[in-house]
Amino acid sequence: MLAFGGSLPTVPPVTHPAIADGTVVSIHYTLTLEDGTVADSSVGSEPLTYLHGAANIVPGLERQLTGRKPGEKLEADVTPAEGYGEFDPEGEQVVPRKAFPKGQKLQPGMMFHTEGPQGPQPLWVKEVGEAEVTITYNHPMAGRTLRFAVEVLEVRKATREEMEHGHVHGPGGHHH
Ligand code: ZN
Repeated sequence: MLAFGGSLPTVPPVTHPAIADGTVVSIHYTLTLEDGTVADSSVGSEPLTYLHGAANIVPGLERQLTGRKPGEKLEADVTPAEGYGEFDPEGEQVVPRKAFPKGQKLQPGMMFHTEGPQGPQPLWVKEVGEAEVTITYNHPMAGRTLRFAVEVLEVRKATREEMEHGHVHGPGGHHH
């Protein structure tokens, strides 16, 4: 983490980098849907820390955060296309219960991955029956317009290792 301020007179003042690809960004955010429902918020808990330019967050929010600096607040509206995707009414499928790992407890909303033609594809459990399970390839927020109220807290350059891994290490990130 960069220590801002308190520089020696001989050291040039530390400038806050703006958000760009290859920076690690900490934000507080509240996500509200069109109907005013608060779907998610970091306020009151740990801020979200992510690697900018690595598709760690939805594209529409990432795009609107580019160039912002610590201390800035913004409201970012994100269309489904730049959010969690359009809702596909054909995206549902009924599969046998035994398509899931043996002993796996199943609940609506659980996410699994299946091997698709373009690599691992997420899917969600929608309904659980005795012998059959309804799954959907639609993200739970698919088709929704998202409004993010964001406060930018910190911006720093990513380390080489973080760039290679495509995610943040340390506080708010991966530990490994
Ligand atoms: Zn890593």
